[in-house]
Amino acid sequence: MAYTVLARRYRSKTFDEVIGQDPVARTLRSAIEHDRVAHAYLFCGTRGVGKTTMARILARALNCEKGPTAEPCGKCDICESIHRGDDMDVLEIDGASNNSVDDVRQIRDNVHYRPARARFKIYYIDEVHMLSSSAFNALLKTLEEPPEHVKFIFSTTEPEKLPATVLSRCQRFDFRAVPTDLIAAHLKMICKKEKVKPQADAIQAIAREGRGSVRDAITLLDQVIAVGDGVVTLDAVRETVGAVAGEDVLAVIGACADGDHGGALARFGDLLAGGTDIRSLLEQLMRQVRDLLVVATCGPEAQLLDAFGPDRERLAEVAEKLSVPALVACLGYLGEARTRARWVVDARPIAELALVRMASLSEMEPLPQVVARLEALEASLAGAAPAAPPSDEKKKRPAGGEAPDRRRKLQDAMNDPVVRKAVDIFEGRVCNVED
Ligand SMILES: [Zn+2]
Repeated sequence: MAYTVLARRYRSKTFDEVIGQDPVARTLRSAIEHDRVAHAYLFCGTRGVGKTTMARILARALNCEKGPTAEPCGKCDICESIHRGDDMDVLEIDGASNNSVDDVRQIRDNVHYRPARARFKIYYIDEVHMLSSSAFNALLKTLEEPPEHVKFIFSTTEPEKLPATVLSRCQRFDFRAVPTDLIAAHLKMICKKEKVKPQADAIQAIAREGRGSVRDAITLLDQVIAVGDGVVTLDAVRETVGAVAGEDVLAVIGACADGDHGGALARFGDLLAGGTDIRSLLEQLMRQVRDLLVVATCGPEAQLLDAFGPDRERLAEVAEKLSVPALVACLGYLGEARTRARWVVDARPIAELALVRMASLSEMEPLPQVVARLEALEASLAGAAPAAPPSDEKKKRPAGGEAPDRRRKLQDAMNDPVVRKAVDIFEGRVCNVED
């Protein structure tokens, strides 16, 4: 028998089985129980969170031979063909490739024919935001008054692209990203049924890599099982997603934190030599800096840390050396590099520039010290004591109009290139000129 991918084999079949979308499942179940099913639904949410699965379950609930029922039997011909996605009365349409007016006209002309064998004719249009605006217009009339036997279910990852006229005609459900713990529990269940032995941290890593998408996580598990020959290890996960060991990535950042430009570049070079893609490395550096930021702001015990990160002690050690503003600046440099790296053939100089800028952060004086020095400078220019004055004192400037003579002197001073440069650097102004 041909191999069916895990994501399909373990697709949920009932409202109760759907992972992490309880509010949606509950509302739909109740609509069926009370015979208040709307004629058009809109499912919003990122990929792999259960929109298509939920649409198929709703279709089964409506069309099951024993229905309409919130507990479709799962055994009748209709239930089975809907679950496979090839039922003749449940038409699954990919909005991205059927987005023209003609495609929608075809739907519009067909809605009037009764379903072939079930109660309802159900149109499931995936990625509905891809329809052209004229296609939306062609759909509106049907959407407003569809025949009794027709239900529409739309799904989209980008609801903000839908016209208000469509939004207002649908009952909208927002699918949330599925929490990592729920995904991990689901993966464990699959491993058990597939009789593969997973390492606990490997399952957790796969669940985190899914980033809220059950399908992405299961697909990754499938790959890891194939790589590990039936065993699921953290190394196999890392290898599959092309992740470098967290310690090695952290070492690059550690060198930056020490102001060791050469060390940072050398370590980065080692990772590249190991065959890791430069863009993926930038991504991993960002994730690691983000982890440091989590440690710096929430403490090393936070549950929000990355799947392949090094141990918490090591993270805390590096986090000690970097202030929160410095970490924020690092994220900015890396983010900028990642964006620019998309458009060039050789992204290495761009990545290295980001690292050098990060390593240079330690040479910069902390902002409060700079402010104190500026205040002291300002005070000395104003003829006051050179020591840094309290901050409210510096605001006391000569009130009202300055004598014309004094103003001219100040103007002359400002015309001097050296003075102007100084004013530029310190972002201050000239207050007094001694003759
Ligand atoms: Zn059934």
